[in-house]
Amino acid sequence: MGSRTEESLKDWYQKTEEEVLEALHTSKEGLSATEAAGLLASKGENILEEGKKKSTLQVFAEQFRDLLVVILIAAAVISMLSGNAESTIVIVAVIVLNAVLGTVQHEKAQKSLASLKSLSSPTAKVIRDGQKVEIASKGVVPGDILLLEAGDMVVADGRILNNYSLQVNESSLTGESTNVDKEEGTLDTEAPLADRTNMVYSGSLVTYGRAVVAVTGTGMDTEIGKIASLMNATKEKKTPLQVSLDQFSSRLAMVIMVICGLVFLLSIYRKMPLLDSLMFAVALAVAAIPEALSSIVTIVQAMGTQRMAKENAIIKELKAVESLGCVSVICSDKTGTLTQNKMTVKDIYVDGKVCQPDELDLRSQLHRYLLYDALLTNDSSLVEGKGIGDPTEYALLEMAGKVSLSHDLIREMMHRLEEIPFDSDRKLMSTKYQLHGVPTILTKGAVDVLLYRTTHIRTSEGVRELTEKDRENILEQNMRFSENGLRVLAFAYKEVEEDHVLSLKSENDFIFIGLISMVDPPREESKDAVADAKRAGIRPVMITGDHKITATAIAKQIGIFEKGDMAVTGAELDAMTDEELDLNITKTSVYARVSPENKIRIVDAWQRRGNVVSMTGDGVNDAPALKKADIGVAMGITGTEVSKDAASMILADDNFATIIKAVANGRNVYRNIKNAIQFLLSGNMAGILSVLYTSIMALPVPFAPVHLLFINLLTDSLPAIAIGMEPAEHGLLNRKPRDPKEGILSKEFMLKILVQGALIAVCTMTAFHIGLKQGSAATASTMAFCTLTLSRLFHGFNCRSRQSIFRLGFASNWYSLGAFLAGVFLLSLVMFVPVLEKLFSVAPLTASQIGIIYGLAVIPTIIIQFAKIIKENRK
Ligand code: ATP
Repeated sequence: MGSRTEESLKDWYQKTEEEVLEALHTSKEGLSATEAAGLLASKGENILEEGKKKSTLQVFAEQFRDLLVVILIAAAVISMLSGNAESTIVIVAVIVLNAVLGTVQHEKAQKSLASLKSLSSPTAKVIRDGQKVEIASKGVVPGDILLLEAGDMVVADGRILNNYSLQVNESSLTGESTNVDKEEGTLDTEAPLADRTNMVYSGSLVTYGRAVVAVTGTGMDTEIGKIASLMNATKEKKTPLQVSLDQFSSRLAMVIMVICGLVFLLSIYRKMPLLDSLMFAVALAVAAIPEALSSIVTIVQAMGTQRMAKENAIIKELKAVESLGCVSVICSDKTGTLTQNKMTVKDIYVDGKVCQPDELDLRSQLHRYLLYDALLTNDSSLVEGKGIGDPTEYALLEMAGKVSLSHDLIREMMHRLEEIPFDSDRKLMSTKYQLHGVPTILTKGAVDVLLYRTTHIRTSEGVRELTEKDRENILEQNMRFSENGLRVLAFAYKEVEEDHVLSLKSENDFIFIGLISMVDPPREESKDAVADAKRAGIRPVMITGDHKITATAIAKQIGIFEKGDMAVTGAELDAMTDEELDLNITKTSVYARVSPENKIRIVDAWQRRGNVVSMTGDGVNDAPALKKADIGVAMGITGTEVSKDAASMILADDNFATIIKAVANGRNVYRNIKNAIQFLLSGNMAGILSVLYTSIMALPVPFAPVHLLFINLLTDSLPAIAIGMEPAEHGLLNRKPRDPKEGILSKEFMLKILVQGALIAVCTMTAFHIGLKQGSAATASTMAFCTLTLSRLFHGFNCRSRQSIFRLGFASNWYSLGAFLAGVFLLSLVMFVPVLEKLFSVAPLTASQIGIIYGLAVIPTIIIQFAKIIKENRK
């Protein structure tokens, strides 16, 4: 009993492997699915509880912190003092309604972001019921057997059972940025977290090697969970566009306040009653403050990201949607992104001759060595004819299948003693086996790397020294394969002493066996996507770990490499100074044999020229380059969790063409936001100009605050959202990318707003004058209000696009027509339903007055459409 208590007092790292497994009620075969489900129910999901989310009530309360609300409350008070109880009720109702709408929008945007987040949530490989399965990391439970490999994020705390050169970066936990080596075994003494070398902790990254781990803690029970509450202060980040619009709004508010003050003083000077003067000022404020701006941006962006997710581009940061529209350089991996990542072995070079896979002869010892090397430095498998693992590797299994060599049998017969996994920096993979009773290191890798580590060659006549001539022949053959766009691997081996321990130092003095080349055809859509990119003023650049000649051949096929372009290797890049790189950067369309550090320099050089750069990556070392790029793009299928974590966009289908689609979507979202802003601001401008005009001309107040509230918060928001839904137009990719420095509120844009606002204001004021002439101030105000509402509704069609509505057609955006009709319906309710008539201080109008309203309201739209048609024809 005593020893049992002692045992349970021990920390995980102090227990033996058996004690760990026993305490967790698990085995190396993993939990069963039912056990795991039970544990998930009792222990909870493996997630860190997010910092306290704002409650709906809090969000609702925040809606009242707006300047507009303060002004509205003032308006309500003034209305009450002037004995207009109905108006007060309406204003209060509108304030509440506005807050409700704001809350709903906020919650909706949050939900859509959360759904995007779940699309990009990490996965983990575990053993369940004795089988390796991939599950969402939130489903991991204590007792699971977790399989870690380079590029994975550690998703739970665990004790290492089997270690294969595992290195992890635990900086998120310990602050130590260097990678730490892990090991198996039990630690006897007490050790601080950083020294528990037989444990891995949630939140760290696997940078090298692999390991089998028993999960000891999940969710908030992990070490990171214990400190998570410190980091959970999740702030809602606004995008640059939202920030700049917010700044614009508050600057505008200041200007409006000053003008309101002046208008008020002017009214007092004209001896207008105090309350009326105040009403003037308040009406102006309500007309001018663009309350919907920021929320329209959020809504349109959220809708855009949903559309992109459907097209396989998962946006992780809203900010990326804006940057996507100005991307001018796309740096893309080759394998799997531009090509299909479906490798098939083509030609084989062995014994000085080229042969085909089905010509391999099992009776030849040389061929057998090549096959052993191909099957044993290989971690892939074929299940029911489908490859699992690295496509380069299962192409080799398929090759062996052509001469009826069972890779399962070979692997069963031979026992792997040690291994150094492939990594794209070293470009080699080595394993140690007992081959025919002799410890042998088998290696495969890039020709240019491995050939310089070989001293001998094996031919059908046996092993001899590698001559200069042999080397030349091999390189020449490599060149011939590469020129056809084939990926080439070299194979070599060496026998070692019994006690030799496999390490990076062992990868030398090899005996060369042969070369195997494989095709990986370009994706069908790559060529068109590259052409689209070029048409859109975007420079596609290929960045690959593959050989320069292979990469160039593929780049030529898909149109990335054109006459006069350059291809540069990582080594050549290393030799260049920054100045030299700057001189060559625009000419270079292919970078081959690059290291992750090279990628950072390439991004940097393009950014120095003022470009907005997108960079793809999948490996564990790609994270810094992905972060450095304006848009870091990770691969959804082949990408490591680490790269996905660092990226701002994930390609669910690993496809280059998806990036181009996302760029088009990004451009469209930006255009729609700009158009929606144009719609809202020009409408507000019309209101401001009208109020200013009547104030200066000493006319009665044209609008009651409720009128402007009705327009700003109800009838205007519908067309604004509809404009945000405008589908991408044809020529979207025919234009150059937008200049990132050019803000949305350019001079030209503001001028457009002023002119369009003035047009609407002129018509509104014409209606006002006609009303004054024909009836009372109340009739005039009603006519002005109805004209302003209607003309803004019509104006919704103008703001859909630069093109005229006749070219666009109503059918291309039904939302826009729907928003218009809904607006007209709402206005008719206010005009004709007696209760509302009273509430909204609307006077009854005659049929001819209504005719005048419609006639005047459509005039600005006719003029604007005319101008568009003239412009189109001139083009
Ligand atoms: P990209 O960066 O475009 O995805 P890639 O997949 O060709 O290119 P890497 O995977 O880094 O880049 O491969 C670089 C080189 O390493 C290849 O050209 C090949 O010679 C070699 N190589 C690739 N896979 C393996 C492997 N599993 N074992 C040994 N060597 C490999």
